[in-house]
Amino acid sequence: MAEAESATAESKQLPILPFLRLGEKDGEDSYLFGSRCKSCGATYLGDRMACSKCCSTDPMDDVRLSDRGELHVFSIVHQSAPGVPTPYVAAIVDLPEGVSVRCNIEGVEPDPKNLEFGMPVEMYTEKVHTDDDGNEIIAFKFRPVNNN
Ligand SMILES: [Zn+2]
Repeated sequence: MAEAESATAESKQLPILPFLRLGEKDGEDSYLFGSRCKSCGATYLGDRMACSKCCSTDPMDDVRLSDRGELHVFSIVHQSAPGVPTPYVAAIVDLPEGVSVRCNIEGVEPDPKNLEFGMPVEMYTEKVHTDDDGNEIIAFKFRPVNNN
């Protein structure tokens, strides 16, 4: 049994954004989910009421999105809100399902020479802070895939 959690019985892990679904049990993956239009197959991040491609308002299929994608665009952020450490890498990652995700890239020095458009990246989750009720707030980030 894993006893590494310091959280109390009442505290929970909460996703920082609604389209991040956390694994509920040990060994269960956390993942991003999307909605796929049953009429035309267009896929969107998170819940979606209507398809902007074909205007269908039928309920969409819930899909698990890939953990891996490609770095579509990035910028090195040097100034941010107080309390946010800089520099960091703000990016948009394209997932194979045709969905783009805004995220931060970690696991690499924030320097353009370490980053390349189209480079493979993978998602991971990390606790970013604990709220007033003791809940752990979980964020997702992407990092370069280690190809060794
Ligand atoms: Zn559609």
